[in-house]
Amino acid sequence: MQISRLPISSHETVLRVCDDTIGLTGFIAVHSTKLGPAAGGLRMRRYTSEDAALTDALRLSEGMTYKNAAAGLPLGGGKAVIMGDATQKTSAQLLTFARAINTLEGTYWTAEDMGMSPDDMALLATETKFVAGLPNGPHASGDPSPITARGIFQSLKITAQHRFGSADLKGRKVAVQGLGHVGTYLCDLLHNAGAKLIIADIEPKRVAKLAKKYGATIAGPNEILTVEADIFAPCAIGAILNQDSIAKLRVAAICGGANNQLATPEDGARLHARGILYAPDFVANAGGIINVATEVLGIADRAAYVDEKLAAVELTLERIFERAASLDCSPAEVAVSIVDEMLTDRAA
Ligand code: NAD
Repeated sequence: MQISRLPISSHETVLRVCDDTIGLTGFIAVHSTKLGPAAGGLRMRRYTSEDAALTDALRLSEGMTYKNAAAGLPLGGGKAVIMGDATQKTSAQLLTFARAINTLEGTYWTAEDMGMSPDDMALLATETKFVAGLPNGPHASGDPSPITARGIFQSLKITAQHRFGSADLKGRKVAVQGLGHVGTYLCDLLHNAGAKLIIADIEPKRVAKLAKKYGATIAGPNEILTVEADIFAPCAIGAILNQDSIAKLRVAAICGGANNQLATPEDGARLHARGILYAPDFVANAGGIINVATEVLGIADRAAYVDEKLAAVELTLERIFERAASLDCSPAEVAVSIVDEMLTDRAA
């Protein structure tokens, strides 16, 4: 295995990990450890080039710094990527990568991300202790989706309070895009709160089943971006809020679980200009990383820790909305500046 350190000034440490004998090329990016060890998942997917893989690792690790800080976690931001088809991954590749993680001596903790499974994490754990998302063990945190959905649901109520003057979701029309792990749990919470659901997924069977269960209206995968509703909850893919889609939205607010919903930072301002209140994704969907953090930090009373951190996220979102209203700017911009302040305070 060859490990080289790449000099990239925006990040604390970036490693290129390579072993031609087993077809392994990957990167580990540690963006910041100001608040604690960098935590963020390991992703495996086909990239068109090494540059594309490196860019992904750099962007995602920076995103983790913001997400972990906004959640009030004593964790920094990091991410790792392996280039290649995840269905073809080998034990040798994962074990070698685990040894590369060890060279960072705990400044980076990995977990499951795209192309990885709990079993892959268990395999990594045979070689490194700096891994979370394990299927079993004393601190194994399990599926984060129910906690993620809980955080989004609470954020939706705060968003409704700020946009409509009431946190009560009874009778509110909520359009949910993506009915996977997070979307399904979220629909359950929304239905129980009396919200009227409009739902969409690219899997027609999934949509039909949930439409029946909740008496929801079905929208097509593209149509969901243009339906008239009070709140839009994106719970599928990233970059769906862009110049084109924002112009067509017919909602008053947005709050959902998908990562990187804004295609560009300017899209936050575009939403604001249209009077659409946007709950920043990395704040609203922090429940998942809070759940993983219990494992990284070895928290004994996970339920109490999750309750405490989710309550703190609610206060952070309140603060973001209040500051955005007083400055007449986008909550996305405020969320980034609040985390920047946290990081500067810590560095001082
Ligand atoms: P998932 O893979 O279980 O579900 C995604 C769903 O979206 C699937 O049902 C899929 O068919 C659907 N989908 C994909 N493309 C679509 C499209 N164009 N239109 C409509 N539906 C589409 O994933 P998940 O775990 O539910 O995560 C959903 C989002 O939330 C992702 O962006 C993920 O990164 C983010 N997130 C998840 C967690 C978590 O705890 N699982 C935590 C934080 C953020």
